Amino acid sequence: MIIDIHGHYTTAPAPLGQWRDAQLAALDGGQPPASQGPVISDDQIRESIETNQLRLMNERGIDVQIFSPRASFMAHHAGDFETSAAWSRHCNDLIGRVSELYPDRFVPSAMLPQSPGIDPATVIDELERCVAEHDIVAVNLNPDPSGGHWTSPPLTDEHWFPVYEKLIEHELPVMVHVSTSINPAFHTTGAHYLNADTTAVMQLLTGDLFATFPELKMIIPHGGGAAPYHWGRFRGLAMMLDKPPVEEHLLNNIYFDTCVYHQPGIDTLLEVIPHKNIMFASEMIGAVRTEDPNTGHYFDDTARYIQAAELSDASKQSIFEDTARAVHPRLDRRLTAQGR
Ligand SMILES: [Zn+2]
Repeated sequence: MIIDIHGHYTTAPAPLGQWRDAQLAALDGGQPPASQGPVISDDQIRESIETNQLRLMNERGIDVQIFSPRASFMAHHAGDFETSAAWSRHCNDLIGRVSELYPDRFVPSAMLPQSPGIDPATVIDELERCVAEHDIVAVNLNPDPSGGHWTSPPLTDEHWFPVYEKLIEHELPVMVHVSTSINPAFHTTGAHYLNADTTAVMQLLTGDLFATFPELKMIIPHGGGAAPYHWGRFRGLAMMLDKPPVEEHLLNNIYFDTCVYHQPGIDTLLEVIPHKNIMFASEMIGAVRTEDPNTGHYFDDTARYIQAAELSDASKQSIFEDTARAVHPRLDRRLTAQGR
């Protein structure tokens, strides 16, 4: 089985975006949108999924995708906590509906109603609701809800601990995932995303989070940003900072996905990072939606790179399925209940 652990509903039907536009306009005195959320039919969902994500999954042999709200649209910086709470609820409910329509293809992951300067413990109500109502298998946590100004403490700070405690209680891994950058110095998907991935690894290396939370599982997306490419630097810094070797300090708890959009990048990831710490993902349909003229295939067709890499069958099995099931126990239980 091929499990893609990183997909977003980037093709959600138009009423979702219209609702959000009205919500943001209301912050400036406009007419607020209906509090019950956008009106979207099952047929609109089917059309948006079957012509996009599902079509590509079928073409690429991907069986299941962990599916979450569009990351760049989380925009936690906008408005206040109430703004984020309403938006998160509607986005998460829409993901829940996709998963109900395609229970053997899409498995829900939630966004959290974060807001800059607000105690992260405030996200727990929505997290609990998504566990109870949608049986989510993971969550996306934004280490920088300010949108590129980095005003929050590092991920190792007690600031975040109430969220981690709740994640562990519900056996949920967390993907560290920023949203839109409102800082013009950082392009959202080209700089801010990769900066955040790299920053998360360095924060975790600097602190001792996993000594406090040995059960916490963190996924660093986009192939870990610059971390695998600069692994020697991180190993050396761990020594200079009197930390245990990175294998012991980080690699029992952090995982990298394969959202790296060329063969040499994937080959480096596979050469540097132990295969037990790598999970297959594409993030399609996401940041880069075009074909690579050098290969004639889509940049985000990452299964192709894994298949082309020099890997044992055991490593491929681990990257495509086994590690995803081990890191996401709730996903594993869902699949097992489906006889898979
Ligand atoms: Zn993403």
